[in-house]
Amino acid sequence: MSESKISIHHGDLPAGLSFPKGVAIDTETLGLNPHRDRLCLVQLSSGDGSAHLVKFDGKTYEAPRLKALLADPAVLKIFHFARFDIAVLKQYLGVDTAPLYCTKIASKLARTYTDRHGLKDLVGELLGIELSKQQQSSDWGAQELSDSQKSYAASDVLHLHALKDKLDMMLEREGRLAFAKAAFGFLPTRAKLDLAGFGDDDIFAH
Ligand code: MN
Repeated sequence: MSESKISIHHGDLPAGLSFPKGVAIDTETLGLNPHRDRLCLVQLSSGDGSAHLVKFDGKTYEAPRLKALLADPAVLKIFHFARFDIAVLKQYLGVDTAPLYCTKIASKLARTYTDRHGLKDLVGELLGIELSKQQQSSDWGAQELSDSQKSYAASDVLHLHALKDKLDMMLEREGRLAFAKAAFGFLPTRAKLDLAGFGDDDIFAH
């Protein structure tokens, strides 16, 4: 990951970025409860090996350029476990992120030969790249992020385009692209159910 270009921005994306092949996105927060744990960082990549990290100090979440990108109907947003990230983005930026692609859902529909659907598992098996998860639970609210936090945060978005390409081929092969598209389409509602307190309930269960 040392050769990848990582830019850090405060409070919003810079002007003039474009994401013609969709944008890979991940977020880092202070914890797993969006009502309690604030959004600290949004990582983005165009799939060209570089990453933009947008850092939030917790006082303001104005970020007009980032919000416009998240809501832009012409730009696909690629996540791994979008359900969590889009709930956090809704809670803190007030934005409905769409259209969506989730590599975790794609993996669950395509890779039924395994129950290992973590990002590290996917990147290892499908791309042959070893990801470190060392900084996963570090203090993302820190004033100054360490170099290892920055490179960890970037590594969560650098491979999502390549994963999507592989997973799309597998979904196509198994005739499950339509299931995937429908599941991605339900994600905004799933995230709103989470925020409304229906997180653990399977509303489809008997
Ligand atoms: Mn992450």
